[in-house]
Amino acid sequence: MKKPILLSLAHMGGHEQDFIKEAFDTNWVVPLGPNVSGFEQDLAQYLGKDKHIVALSAGTAAIHLALVMLDVKAGDEVLCQSFTFAASANPIKYQGATPVFVDSEEDTWNMDPVLLEEAILDRKAKTGKYPKAIIPVHLYGMSAKMDEIMAVANKYQIPVIEDAAEALGSTYKNQECGTFGHFGTLSFNGNKIITTSGGGALVCDSEQEAKRAMFFATQARENAPHYQHERIGYNYRMSNICAGIGRGQMLVLDEHLQRRQAIHALYTDLFKDAKGITVLQNPTSDFNSNFWLSCITVDSALAGQTREDIRLRLEQENIESRPLWKPMHMQPVFADAPAYVNGVSEALFDKGLCLPSGSLLIDDDIRRVVEVILNK
Ligand SMILES: *Cc1c(COP(=O)(O)O)cnc(C)c1O
Repeated sequence: MKKPILLSLAHMGGHEQDFIKEAFDTNWVVPLGPNVSGFEQDLAQYLGKDKHIVALSAGTAAIHLALVMLDVKAGDEVLCQSFTFAASANPIKYQGATPVFVDSEEDTWNMDPVLLEEAILDRKAKTGKYPKAIIPVHLYGMSAKMDEIMAVANKYQIPVIEDAAEALGSTYKNQECGTFGHFGTLSFNGNKIITTSGGGALVCDSEQEAKRAMFFATQARENAPHYQHERIGYNYRMSNICAGIGRGQMLVLDEHLQRRQAIHALYTDLFKDAKGITVLQNPTSDFNSNFWLSCITVDSALAGQTREDIRLRLEQENIESRPLWKPMHMQPVFADAPAYVNGVSEALFDKGLCLPSGSLLIDDDIRRVVEVILNK
């Protein structure tokens, strides 16, 4: 069996255990604690724009809390990018609200701002009210067209929850992804650009909002000597141990970022003469993707093979690859949800493939992947 080459593995930097040891030595093996505040400060400093961070148990929890804070409830609609991982949309259902899916544009593969406005106007016409929030996603690390999306959102005064789970370190017009919306959400799941073994964060505009998020994340316990509850709460805080991993990972975030971008540059170079195979690129110099995953699209007529031919051949060679996200409007679980589609995400799902991109991979691994793809 050939050496496996995987899509995206956790990659430790070396100092994570120092922070964990400190937590054990000081008996802070509980939620909250100095690693949590340290990690939150590291993230706030990294993102800039005076943001306030709440570290949480998952990226999904961050999206859910943003919806809770925006008072999304049964009878409300929330616009969500269709081309994404289910975790962007599931929390809308947790609140009993209805997701309304919006398709992507071809440059970034993210929410189409023109279709977004059409969807907003059509929902207003059909239901008599505007959707309660908008969830654009920065897929595979590529920023959505945030200027255009924020302009539409602001025009109709609809808050934006920016799903930056895959985009820590990516920028748009030199501003960090996750800092454009009214809320930003991050993920530190095991396969993301940095990991806490499982975790996430909510990016807030003010300390007041961060405190409110923390209140909901710690069972909505009111300020009283006994346990007083006036709202429904959640157990969503990050543990001090996980946050210790996060602090260690922050020390190597830039290294990981550069390695992922170098892997993308190598794929781009190795595929430059390959007919029918296109590597997703930053559309203009306004975009700077972290290239969490390098993705290709396969034009089978030109390439002489389909995406699925390639995926199966890679699998035989013990190389992991994966079709692009299956759009939410095609998912059985969301069959009833309204959707505004233009064919872009369906075409991408048909012809797109994510290639091994983890920061642990060496150049020879990438060369082996490309060889298998080209030698059909
Ligand atoms: C990973 C991911 C999430 C969810 O993050 P978890 O930390 O796994 O809960 C949400 N949205 C997108 C686009 C993701 O890739």
